[in-house]
Order: sequence, then structure tokens, then C-alpha cells
Amino acid sequence: MSGLVVIGASYAGVQAALTVREAGYSGPVTVVADEAVLPYQRPPLSKDFLLGETTAQGLLMRDEAIFTGRRIDLLLGRRVVELDRNAGRVVLAGDAVLDFDSLVIATGSRARPITIHGAELDGVCYLRSIADAIDLKARLDRASEIVIVGGGFIGLEVASSAIKLGKRVTVIEAGSRLLERAVSSVVSRFLLDIHVQAGVAVKTNAAISAILGAGSRVAAVELDGGVRLGADLVVVGIGGIANDDLAVAAGLKCANGIMVDQYGRTACPGIYAAGDCAIHYSRFAGGWIRLECVQHAQDQGRAVGLAVADSREPYDSVPRFWSDQHDLRLQTVGHAAGSDRIVIRGAIDAGRFSVFHYRQDKLVAVDSINNPGDQMLARRLIAAGISPEPDQVKDISCDLRSFLKNRQ
Ligand SMILES: Cc1cc2nc3c(=O)[nH]c(=O)nc-3n(C[C@H](O)[C@H](O)[C@H](O)COP(=O)(O)OP(=O)(O)OC[C@H]3O[C@@H](n4cnc5c(N)ncnc54)[C@H](O)[C@@H]3O)c2cc1C
Repeated sequence: MSGLVVIGASYAGVQAALTVREAGYSGPVTVVADEAVLPYQRPPLSKDFLLGETTAQGLLMRDEAIFTGRRIDLLLGRRVVELDRNAGRVVLAGDAVLDFDSLVIATGSRARPITIHGAELDGVCYLRSIADAIDLKARLDRASEIVIVGGGFIGLEVASSAIKLGKRVTVIEAGSRLLERAVSSVVSRFLLDIHVQAGVAVKTNAAISAILGAGSRVAAVELDGGVRLGADLVVVGIGGIANDDLAVAAGLKCANGIMVDQYGRTACPGIYAAGDCAIHYSRFAGGWIRLECVQHAQDQGRAVGLAVADSREPYDSVPRFWSDQHDLRLQTVGHAAGSDRIVIRGAIDAGRFSVFHYRQDKLVAVDSINNPGDQMLARRLIAAGISPEPDQVKDISCDLRSFLKNRQ
């Protein structure tokens, strides 16, 4: 028996490997990972790790003993370079091969590179991995003027950490508002105020046309229109790209990610995908979506693990995400794209509120600032397809739990 091979040892891959064992799978399980470190938590990289509040050791997901105890072989520092789906085999760099009965592709995503003049200069950084974070932290310690390209989650989290470290920070966002594709305009405006109050300069509707160097090192960025900003460090956070190259080359169906069903199965028997590298049909989005968040990677990794062990449970979690910036927590649940009405619950001025999104009178998503209680309820409401009336949502004396109780 060749067993299960998992490519990628992060949230999706680790969850799939642990789940097959929990579900009683007895064959060999091998997890191949190109990073040469034990699986670790990625979200703190832009937050506590940059601030020096945790160490690389403190980020580890599990003790190594958990893997050995479950007979999960971790092949760390090894990259899969080819998938031969007909032979049921993957090829590793250096030409070693691993045969498989089942394969889980959990290769995640990579940072989208910026492709303008000066992009190759020393001091232009990205943040995906612990290696990136160690490098960025050392550079942040030495830098004084930091330009962040992209007002998305990673850019804003790095901005929040850098300003806490006493740096001069400017965020350049091409869109008209921060986190444009992820949250309501109300939350974007609130976050803008928080960043500006903390001392971050934010330029929206601003595109960067070149990165300028002094010798080989970054010295400034130039915006469309010619404005120049001094910078000794440029951090680029302009989105992620699915690591679906192996699958594309092997002829698996991909469309901005590896296409899978509700069990994480590709159209090729025995081959599964989960996490950032996969795209699936979501009833919450009403279409195919690729998510980049921890909850999704873990839940889909679990569904895949169960399917490999022949104990199927469809993946049907409501998408959710969190982001810590300055001293607040933003959480989102559901899928807000195409929403045609928003309703605010709570007090924006008090910094504790939620924005309920409706699409054709149906509750589809909720963004919350410092309000985990609303998030928990919203998750259950959206999962159950319950839509309280907007007037009831606005009224904070209305207990939203009653809608769930009435259903029981
Ligand atoms: C700085 C940062 C902050 C974040 N903050 C949050 C947050 O606050 N909340 C949240 O929900 N999400 C957050 N995320 C997103 C979250 O971390 C990802 O959605 C999650 O890590 C996805 O897990 P994954 O297992 O699908 O893939 P990944 O975590 O991307 O892991 C994939 C692994 O596979 C490896 N790999 C790729 N190709 C190969 C190959 N050919 N051979 C061997 N190995 C390979 C990769 O190197 C990587 O180690 C953050 C991400 C980053 C980078």
C-alpha cells in the first residue's frame, strides 16, 4: 500500500493528515513540505511576531511528537516538482519519487509580485512565510520610513505593527477605500480613521509607478503623477496567487485554484485539494470561491481527511476571517459580495459595532469590530438561512438569539 501523500504542511495539509488518522486510516501518511520548519501559525507573522511578542518557537502548531505518535512522516525542506496522476506518483526536487493511493494538494498561496520598475531592489519585501517574517523583522528594526503597497489585510496589519514600533508608515492603496473587496464602506472608513489616528499616512486612489533605488537599495517610491515618497523599506501586500501550478501541469481542472467538490475531491479519483490553493462552490457565496483564511483551510482540510478515510462529511462552513489591527479585532462572517443593503448594529463611535449585509432581503454576511458575540450569532444565523428584519437588527435591545431559539 502506498498510502496518503499530502503536499504542504500548513493548516489544510496538517488538518487533513491528522483527520485521516482520527478517522481510522491505517496506511502510511507522508506530508511533504518545502519549508524546512515544523508547521507553524501564519497569522501572527504580521502581528505579534513583528512586534517581538512571540518567537518562531512560539508559533509552532503542534509538537513534533503529535506527528510521530500518529505515524505521520513529515518530509520537511522537500519540494514536490511534478505530479504524475496516471502513475499515482509525485516527484520531489532531487528526483526522489513518492507513490500514493491518495494525494492531498494543500500548497496554499503565494504573494502576488509587484511588476514595476525597481521591484527587484533590496528592501522590497513580501510577507508569507516565517522566513519572510524573520527577514522583515530585522529590516524593520533598521528602517525608519516604510511604504506599504496595498491596503488589504496584510498591508494594514504590517502598518499597525510598524507604527507601534515607532516607524514612519505610509499605506498606498489603488482602490478608493481600504479592504474594498472584503468589508463594507462603513468598516473601511472606521479603519481608515483608526490608522490615521495612530499616525499612519494612508493614500487611497494612489497607484505606485516605480520604486527608486540608491545603488541596489530602495530609497523612494514614485506615485502616478510624479509624487515621491522616501522609503528605506517597501512592503508589498497586493494579494495572493493560488499555488495550483502542479495541478495545472498535471491537467487537473483549475480556475484561479484547483476545482474541488464539497469533499475536496478533484475530478481525478484519489486526488484532493484543500485550503488557499483550492476553489469550491459555496452556497454562501452562490458561486465558486477561493478563500484565504485559516478557518477555511482547516475545515476543508478536515473534510478532505474524512473523505480519504472513506468517512464522508461535506464541507459546508460559513466563511470567516479575522484581522487584528492596532488594538481592535475585525471579524467577518459570510460572503458580502453583491450585497445591496447594509444595516448597522451598535455604536461606531464606541468602537464596537457590526455591519449586517443583505442580498435581496437575505442576510449574507456580517462584519464586526470588537464584537465577537455578534459574530458567533451571525455565523449561526447565516448557516441556518435565518434573516432577521433590518429594523430588528438595528435595535440593540432586540436579542438576536431569539431567532435561533424560535427555530429549535
Ligand atoms: C502574514 C499573514 C497573516 C495572516 N493573517 C490571517 C488572519 O489574521 N486570519 C486568517 O484567517 N488568515 C490569515 N492569513 C491567511 C492564512 O494564513 C492562510 O489562509 C492559511 O495559511 C492557508 O493555509 P493552507 O494550508 O491552505 O496554505 P499555506 O498556509 O499557504 O501553506 C501551504 C504550504 O505548502 C507549501 N508548498 C507549496 N508548494 C509546495 C510544493 N510544491 N512542495 C512542497 N510544499 C509546498 C508552502 O510553502 C506552504 O508551507 C494570514 C496569512 C499571512 C501570510
